[in-house]
Amino acid sequence: MSAAAVTPSPDCPLCPRLASFRDTQRADHADWFNAPVPSFGDREARLLIVGLAPGLRGANRTGRPFTGDYAGDLLYTTLLRFGFARGVYRADPQDGLALVDCLITNAVRCVPPENKPLPAEIKTCNTFLRDQIGTLPRLAAIVALGRIAHDATLTSLGAKKSHHAFGHGAQHKIGAVTLFDSYHCSRYNTNTGVLTTEMFESVFAQVRASLPSP
Ligand code: URA
Repeated sequence: MSAAAVTPSPDCPLCPRLASFRDTQRADHADWFNAPVPSFGDREARLLIVGLAPGLRGANRTGRPFTGDYAGDLLYTTLLRFGFARGVYRADPQDGLALVDCLITNAVRCVPPENKPLPAEIKTCNTFLRDQIGTLPRLAAIVALGRIAHDATLTSLGAKKSHHAFGHGAQHKIGAVTLFDSYHCSRYNTNTGVLTTEMFESVFAQVRASLPSP
């Protein structure tokens, strides 16, 4: 498989609305990353985390998933706590943080206006998620952050949505992989109490129990 199939090209034209938004951001913020955000972490990982899409001033600015995004504070703290990351998270791709047995990607690689990718964009970008999953020889667990990531993961695995309803804390056995669902660790969900730290940690406790430390 070519590397190009795993990461869209920096000027990926496949979603015209996202490409045009990217051009606007490049004009306004020449010092930002402003390109499809590549996956981050361990290419031999057993755990894949699937987010929604880069945040405008977070991953789209820094070029690393969830880095500089509000959602990254809870995600990276939790990964450190459960041994899926090593180092210190400083919301900066140069912080030296390393993921351990874990890779993070997004269902949509380009930042969407108002954080809302369109169904056609989610569908178009699914080829990269599918190919990314296909490169992971030891993959055993996927955490989907939110319903869109859950649905995109099912599509990329060729699994039926009618057989696998999204639910926080739900687990779905799909071939050799277990899909774990969590509400997205967004600012909105944590501020409204839809997702608490305890709820988020309980998902990662289940993941850790299913993947004993090597
Ligand atoms: N940042 C990401 O990279 N993905 C998300 O889903 C949210 C913030």
